[in-house]
Amino acid sequence: MRERETQLPQVQTALVTGANRGIGWAVGRGLLEAGYRVYFGCRSKEEELLARVRDLPGGERGEIVRLDMNDAASIEAAVESILHRSGRVDILVNNAGIVRDKLLVRMEEGEFREVIDVNLVGPFRMVRAVLRPMMKQRYGRIVSISSVVGTTGNAGQANYAASKGGLEAFSKSVALEVGSRGITVNVVAPGFIETDMTSGLPESVTSGVLERIPVRRFGTGEEIAHAVCFLADPAAGYVTGAVIPVNGGLAMP
Ligand code: NAP
Repeated sequence: MRERETQLPQVQTALVTGANRGIGWAVGRGLLEAGYRVYFGCRSKEEELLARVRDLPGGERGEIVRLDMNDAASIEAAVESILHRSGRVDILVNNAGIVRDKLLVRMEEGEFREVIDVNLVGPFRMVRAVLRPMMKQRYGRIVSISSVVGTTGNAGQANYAASKGGLEAFSKSVALEVGSRGITVNVVAPGFIETDMTSGLPESVTSGVLERIPVRRFGTGEEIAHAVCFLADPAAGYVTGAVIPVNGGLAMP
């Protein structure tokens, strides 16, 4: 059956991990504005987040779900809960991520594993949990947030770059496995975006980076959300296994 003949519900259901702040919060807002029912994943303070979500445009379609990438049971439970409450899951956005920057000579194995666990094993668990319902409904959109350094590498970020490069290869592999089931699997690779993750960078690093960015500024969460919304749209069914750079020209494929 061609994908556009697949019966889609009037309101599709999306799940965003790490959606309480930063890029995930912007993606959640963008998907709400685009008309989806959006489950904002967070690992604490659910009630405070629900109040913020309900105040957003389209906030009546906003829901909260507890999700910790380090807790496999929370991932299974979150997807079960969404299926119970909404009957399906159409869109997964793997956004939650961490950095633990350090030069490799000083990096402990635990610091390497910690980043791989959240940034790569987490998305693996998420994708495995949503794949069966998506295959059953013969429709799905999976979008993962990697990073420009997943391709270029970055001194002081061997753990993070490995997790993001792995996420890209993982996504392409899954895209090959499920393309015939109406499920697309894509990646958005941001450059430097204004969030808590980059707010602690010293001025010396920031000014050096800005010189290398052709558009001469950091990006916004909304600019990442725009790319995610494009990939999440039913009309993007012929885009799969893609890595879309949103980096102001910092690195060009
Ligand atoms: P951020 O502001 O630091 O937010 C990170 C989000 O991930 C928070 O919601 C955080 O939840 C969540 N998170 C962390 N560990 C988690 C876990 N174990 N389980 C569930 N959620 C967890 O980061 P950001 O800048 O928005 O980054 C979002 C994504 O974009 C990440 O994957 C990051 O690698 C990627 N990215 C960011 C940039 C950038 O310049 N900002 C560039 C390239 C790629 P808590 O609030 O509970 O900690």
